[in-house]
Amino acid sequence: MPKVLIVGAGLSGLSTAYGVRKSNMDVEILEARPRLGGRILTKNLNPRHLELGATWFGPQHTSLLKLIRELNIPFKTQENGREAMYDFRPKGNLERFQIPHQEASTYKFDNGTSALIDTLKKEISVPIHYNEVVKSVKFDQGFEIRTENRQFKADYLVISIPPQLITDSIRFEPGLSEHSHVLLSKTHTWMSDSIKFSVAFDSDFWKKDGFTGTLMSPQQIIQEMYDHSDVRTAQHALVGFLNSSYSELTKEERKQRVLKQLGTLFLNDDVQNEAYADVNWREEKFTIHEKAELLVPHQNNGNPGLREGFFSNRLFFSASETAAQTPGYMDGAVHRGLEVGEWLLKKLS
Ligand SMILES: Cc1cc2nc3c(=O)[nH]c(=O)nc-3n(C[C@H](O)[C@H](O)[C@H](O)COP(=O)(O)OP(=O)(O)OC[C@H]3O[C@@H](n4cnc5c(N)ncnc54)[C@H](O)[C@@H]3O)c2cc1C
Repeated sequence: MPKVLIVGAGLSGLSTAYGVRKSNMDVEILEARPRLGGRILTKNLNPRHLELGATWFGPQHTSLLKLIRELNIPFKTQENGREAMYDFRPKGNLERFQIPHQEASTYKFDNGTSALIDTLKKEISVPIHYNEVVKSVKFDQGFEIRTENRQFKADYLVISIPPQLITDSIRFEPGLSEHSHVLLSKTHTWMSDSIKFSVAFDSDFWKKDGFTGTLMSPQQIIQEMYDHSDVRTAQHALVGFLNSSYSELTKEERKQRVLKQLGTLFLNDDVQNEAYADVNWREEKFTIHEKAELLVPHQNNGNPGLREGFFSNRLFFSASETAAQTPGYMDGAVHRGLEVGEWLLKKLS
């Protein structure tokens, strides 16, 4: 049986492994981090959780929804309330405004997005090699893949790491064409420029009069924020994105600034902060290279050239950004991951 190696155990790589789980294909996964999920990261505080990566999806995300329903993973509607707050300080005022009615709901997972990753892991019984950072790929009759520690061989290779990171971190022999190299290096990695934060309290003191915590504040440390409470687990939490101009601060300094801004918004000194976490994704070396060129959001996402087969259709790229449907999003990762899985099934079984 031909050997298939998948590089990257994010949602796209795991979706490919899921797609071929019933075949007798010889599949293994190499993952650089000591954990699964890539840009999906939920900090579990059993039974509560802080969401630090991908969170929301919608009815248009058909591949993701189909998979979630197949796997029976519970999800619910994001409640954004009737009113949001605009914090224009210091250049303006604090204002409340009505949130326009939206026909389509936004959903999130009951138990955090990592529930999807954990369930996929249970479904696919293939060896996963953690802490294996792929450095080079050599193709002759088959592939010779070198990581920092070891060497692997494969007949088919699926690289499911963000396209821009591929050219910044993996050397190919023979090299990819100039056109492919440029295309990969100029494909934006969705959300790699963001700082996501999540904070939990002992009460949901911010909720009243139709306000659930939805905030936009372009001048302050919190740029965008939403409620992340859960009645079932008595979780009272907020989640959102921080202004990237605060990326030079330490995590503790960012936390103090976030709590200070929340204090000025809600004036509640009795409130106890239970947990805070943030991730500056720009500093995550297995998401984006520290010297990566700055690109426009979604630049080249979904470009058909990213879905070509390389080395006589023995190598495919499959990260979300390569998808024909909703590239950059979780749905894109599932769509493309399964598409590559289907291709392998047709070819090899
Ligand atoms: C803060 C944030 C918020 C987001 N919010 C949303 C949202 O609300 N809704 C939504 O749909 N999407 C959202 N996204 C995007 C979503 O997370 C991605 O679309 C999806 O998770 C991508 O999965 P992937 O498998 O394609 O890539 P990744 O998750 O990036 O996985 C790539 C994997 O490859 C590994 N890897 C990297 N380099 C190597 C190497 N050299 N060798 C071996 N392994 C390697 C990585 O460690 C990682 O596990 C968000 C992303 C972030 C960061």
